[in-house]
Amino acid sequence: MPLSANNPNRKSWLYVNKYSDFPIQNIPFGVFLTREDIITIGTRIGDTAIDLGAMHQLGYFDGIPLTDDIFLQDSLNDFIADGRKTWRAVRNRVAEVFDADNERLKNNTKHKEIICFRLDEIEMQLPIHVGDYTDFYASKEHATNVGSMFRDPENALLPNWVHMPVGYHGRSSSIISTHIPINRPQGQTLPEGADKPVFGPSKLVDFEVEMAFITTDANDLGESIPVEEAEEYIFGLVLLNDWSARDIQKWEYVPLGPFLGKNFASSMSPWIVTLDALEPFRVESPKQDPKPLPYLQTKGKQSFDIHLEAGIVPKGGKETTVCKTNFKHMYWNMAQQLAHHTINGCPVNAGDLMGSGTISGPTEDSYGSMLEITWKGTKPVKMKDGSERKFINDYDTVVMRGHCENDDIRIGFGQLKTQLLPIFKK
Ligand code: MN
Repeated sequence: MPLSANNPNRKSWLYVNKYSDFPIQNIPFGVFLTREDIITIGTRIGDTAIDLGAMHQLGYFDGIPLTDDIFLQDSLNDFIADGRKTWRAVRNRVAEVFDADNERLKNNTKHKEIICFRLDEIEMQLPIHVGDYTDFYASKEHATNVGSMFRDPENALLPNWVHMPVGYHGRSSSIISTHIPINRPQGQTLPEGADKPVFGPSKLVDFEVEMAFITTDANDLGESIPVEEAEEYIFGLVLLNDWSARDIQKWEYVPLGPFLGKNFASSMSPWIVTLDALEPFRVESPKQDPKPLPYLQTKGKQSFDIHLEAGIVPKGGKETTVCKTNFKHMYWNMAQQLAHHTINGCPVNAGDLMGSGTISGPTEDSYGSMLEITWKGTKPVKMKDGSERKFINDYDTVVMRGHCENDDIRIGFGQLKTQLLPIFKK
């Protein structure tokens, strides 16, 4: 099926600011509450949210095989499970209906009132019911930085790292959408120089700039997905802030890896941008040396040029940008991650979330966590209000953004905002 939704020349009859992340070529998918408090699946063009459930009921998807209630759900899981052919047909149709030359909905005021919402009339929800959450560790710069700080600068990368996309299984229960505040976690830490741990609030709460991909039903128990087919099972991407408590993490992570230092919260952006919409922004991944084993070998442009940034907003203050990085820095691409994940026969389902791992670039201003930006707190960041940050303070809000851009279009992810509150008190 052609990707007619990606036509860069198409204009919409809806107003789209030229700096918008959501031109008619994006057509992301999300879940929102409408002004009548009804939960629905929708998309967005410019600053207009579009109720796909209402569009379907009013006949705008006629001719596409969809069940009646496919969009009248509180998650995208069933729609994602329908597969790429359905995603494409729906994106193509939305592009057609909102095309500047199409009068059908444009001239139907009654229908427009039912289908279109201003952003301040809706409330974005978590777009998927996350079945399983896996977090990789796929940026060579990040793994090298963390290995240097936590272990040994001479042997920063462990020997397995260049041979496989290293990852761990996280918790799906603490994955949240944008604008949901979190509490500073408490736990055990080992103070510098001490030989016994203490209990208390984490002093080193950090963000991780990541992206995550969302899968469709991919394989049954025992089956593997070949690396050259892996992208067929990727629905789309979101921004992911994988919150981390560095002091808890440091004390607990040997020998079984991340646990309570990681699973208190991960925030994801609410609009899932499809892999199809990102197609014009393919780039080559970094060269892999040594050459991976055959089951992990990929050819061509397997990465995407996605500009990412993170900022910190103190309570009542202005945002200070602390990181500018790019998804293309990832050493291991998504196809390799999915092929590796299933090579032992582990099933991957619709609505699984796969984090990339922190995306650090080669320069200090492109590091994707405060741990690296301030080098364990030894080089604090100067904020616009004159204060300093080593890690994240109570009441700070961390903001992440991401977008792709070429001469024709800009496709983005919008914003992901999460405020850190003090420890939870009953
Ligand atoms: Mn992570």
